[in-house]
Amino acid sequence: MDRQTILYRGSLKSCNYRCAYCPFSKHPMSGRELEKDKEQWFSFVRAFPEKARELKSRALLVVPYGEALIHPWYWEGLGRISASGQADAVGAQTNLSFSVLDSLDIYLKAGGDLKKLRLWATFHPRMTTVRAFTETCRQLTDAGVLLCVGAVGVPKNLSVIRELKEALPEEIYLWINRMDGLRRRYTEEETEAFLEIDPYFSRELLSFPADPAGCRGRIFMEGDGKVRTCNIGTIQEQPVLTCSRKRCSCYLAYGGRADFMNRILFGPYPLFRIPRRPKAVFFDIDGTLVPQGVSCEEQAVPQDILAGLKALSKEKTRLFFATSLPVKEAMKRCGSISHLFSGGIFAGGAHLLWQDGAQKKEFFYFLDESCLEEAEALKEKLSVRALACRREGRVYKITLCRPAHSSWSSQDIKTVGDRLSGIRDGSLRCFAEGRCLQIVSARATKEEGVKTLCRWMGISPLQAAAAGDSKEDEEMVRICESFLSPLATSP
Ligand code: SF4
Repeated sequence: MDRQTILYRGSLKSCNYRCAYCPFSKHPMSGRELEKDKEQWFSFVRAFPEKARELKSRALLVVPYGEALIHPWYWEGLGRISASGQADAVGAQTNLSFSVLDSLDIYLKAGGDLKKLRLWATFHPRMTTVRAFTETCRQLTDAGVLLCVGAVGVPKNLSVIRELKEALPEEIYLWINRMDGLRRRYTEEETEAFLEIDPYFSRELLSFPADPAGCRGRIFMEGDGKVRTCNIGTIQEQPVLTCSRKRCSCYLAYGGRADFMNRILFGPYPLFRIPRRPKAVFFDIDGTLVPQGVSCEEQAVPQDILAGLKALSKEKTRLFFATSLPVKEAMKRCGSISHLFSGGIFAGGAHLLWQDGAQKKEFFYFLDESCLEEAEALKEKLSVRALACRREGRVYKITLCRPAHSSWSSQDIKTVGDRLSGIRDGSLRCFAEGRCLQIVSARATKEEGVKTLCRWMGISPLQAAAAGDSKEDEEMVRICESFLSPLATSP
């Protein structure tokens, strides 16, 4: 389930750093202006529990113009919100230039829970050193704070960014933002170099077409109480749902869209940009990896999904299909991405396959031949064709196909249930997909497939993630969902 994150930006417009390209470094704020920012922030903090309940949100990310965390009131407010019982996660974008001990002290004194604190830290090579920056990161992780770290992908900074990667603890994700002012494309070498540092960098290079369908629940709040959908786009509902932008051109835009890839890569609150790194991910094919009914060639897999799959694969996450298609059909349809996958749950769970180099494990839930005979006896009554998937002559899935464009009514499904003894005694199950009714062993489900494959790999389903859009996928997603629970850390 996608959860909402409230983004807050107060009237603060100043920073203690002096980066040449940044307007906020040149904008000093008077004591009065800072006082106003503080008042607005505390009024937001007081209103947060009710607002969050109303919006069904349980997370807050402060995205200031400038640096907020050098001001103690932000720490106090974050502490109070984390203690409010209405937040699973609180955090801010920061340059990490605050004193860790003093700041965490204020946060804790305000009732703050360190397990809920998440920081998005940006490294400014001209303003700090790798050593000082990583030392602060270490202090924070030692205190139990989750954080991500990033830098702008300036090609001439490659060596210092590499140095930063080397110096950071392995569990801290180092993201690279595309450099907007580059005025040229990255060369292949530069792209490869940044991808080595940040496996998700190809998502930054994508031009995500605006898709407001995933943005309706997004909340961006300003100090003066204004509420917007997103930091860059404005949504219009009538006459049709549209966004004022053509592209979701920054992470706060595309990373906050309600889509399964954001959730798989970055957990239930992807805007904090802290990867979840599941050990395995199970993907339904039709309607999930590819639009319903489209052949699954590489160009049919949306670019953002493809970039996500490649990032997961680079992170050594094992990828699996979870589909009602038989393996041959699935591989044919997903030919150009199948090399990224280690097998899957096929035929609705009746066939399980795990391949890891030379190692291969496979299992089938076979059906009795009499099931097929009973199904074939229905051909005339229901005007269907009966097809069987077999392995070495033994049946493991039966599909009853209706003519094109005719779907299964509940009455027809009931007729099948009444006539098939396996369905009557509970040893078989059936489920409709468009014009096909699939019949498999009652033990063959995607959920059981996830459990078995995870057992083969020596991991728990809690260390896996799953995505799918149909009823058949619900249980599979649910048993992996606790992995995505707000406070779960990377396994
Ligand atoms: S720009 Fe923002 S509101 Fe518009 S589609 Fe992208 S994320 Fe949604």
